[in-house]
Amino acid sequence: MPIHSALIVGGGFTGLSTAIALAQCGVQVSLVDRAPEWTRVGHGITIQGNALRAFAEIGVIDEVLAVGEPEDSVTLYFADGRVMAEMPTPRTGGDDLPATIGALRPDVHEILVRRAEALGVEIRLGLELVSFENGEDWASSVLSDGTAENWDVIVVAEGITSQTRPKLGITEDRAPSGLGIWRAVTSRTPEMTGGMAFPSDGSGAFKVGYTPVGADECYIFVLCPPERPDNGLEDWQEVQRLMANFHGPFDRLRESVGPDTFLNFQEIEWIFVEGPWHRGRVIALGEAVHAVPPLIAQGAAQCVEDAVLFAEYVTTDGDFETQVAAFHERRVRRVKGVVDASLQLATWELNPGTPGADPGRVMGEALGALIPAP
Ligand SMILES: Cc1cc2nc3c(=O)[nH]c(=O)nc-3n(C[C@H](O)[C@H](O)[C@H](O)COP(=O)(O)OP(=O)(O)OC[C@H]3O[C@@H](n4cnc5c(N)ncnc54)[C@H](O)[C@@H]3O)c2cc1C
Repeated sequence: MPIHSALIVGGGFTGLSTAIALAQCGVQVSLVDRAPEWTRVGHGITIQGNALRAFAEIGVIDEVLAVGEPEDSVTLYFADGRVMAEMPTPRTGGDDLPATIGALRPDVHEILVRRAEALGVEIRLGLELVSFENGEDWASSVLSDGTAENWDVIVVAEGITSQTRPKLGITEDRAPSGLGIWRAVTSRTPEMTGGMAFPSDGSGAFKVGYTPVGADECYIFVLCPPERPDNGLEDWQEVQRLMANFHGPFDRLRESVGPDTFLNFQEIEWIFVEGPWHRGRVIALGEAVHAVPPLIAQGAAQCVEDAVLFAEYVTTDGDFETQVAAFHERRVRRVKGVVDASLQLATWELNPGTPGADPGRVMGEALGALIPAP
């Protein structure tokens, strides 16, 4: 086996999944995150079948399914509330798993932390990677508390804002997508299954959608321009304003948003690094090297797929450099399909009425391509 010890920098979906996948193969793993403690902050997430398949590989599928609401389709609405179509979602993880589940992010994160701890992963919070150095067949790290250590591999799982990425000689940087997004967790009635609506007159939000994340809760997203206007409105009033032209189930959702709703706005950025993700024994994975506008809900799925496959390659006999090059070649092709589709969909969101625009086809083809295992 080419590696026996690993430092993981970052404890999001990528870092925790990689830590678990490596620890399952007998690697001694230590994980650091700059967060001083894990907090239960965050919104809902749509987890596609191929992510569930990867969660099965790292031994957390039963717990993840237990905290999620399964869905096999999404209802498309006109802004006035009429149903446009019922769109089945491909079962990208195979027929034994739901097409998607909706869940609260902190619930899934907690499951990953518990699994990592149970496998003996050392977790150190409140620490950053300050510098690293590559040796012949090792890498050394210096952390923000001054600790200096040697590892067989360092995995940079710092997300899209990664500070270590440029130190790996990667010149690509995050770029604006032209889109912004509001997210909220609110209540739903039992008959409300997942849905999305498109505007009729181009004012307000580009698109509004919701995904059940519990028996009586759902997660709303409101896709809009990337700048939060300085219009004197409170956040909840701004979300209501953006949703004003959306009716049917969206009337209830809009009215459920109030001063106490936990809301978050962010500009959506993206990055795709097509060239090598590693230098020597230090490699970047997950959103540090591929982040996309969440229009086909594949971000986390691609992160967890990275983790499982990376662990498979670097714990199989063979030269490290050869194994990592083979891993990269295999991953980059698959991730590129998701990146291309997500950016195409973002362009169409920004330019409604583009002749030939066919989001349903692009979404269906991109998800269909993910059905074979990564
Ligand atoms: C608005 C929005 C909606 C989304 N919806 C979905 C969805 O429905 N379905 C889906 O599959 N995906 C979705 N995604 C994508 C998904 O959230 C990401 O792909 C995934 O969370 C990225 O995981 P990550 O671990 O690579 O990065 P992150 O989640 O960003 O984790 C990085 C971690 O590294 C830590 N860190 C950063 N820098 C350092 C450092 N220098 N030292 C130590 N620690 C550090 C951070 O504290 C953090 O814990 C969405 C993304 C956005 C923006």
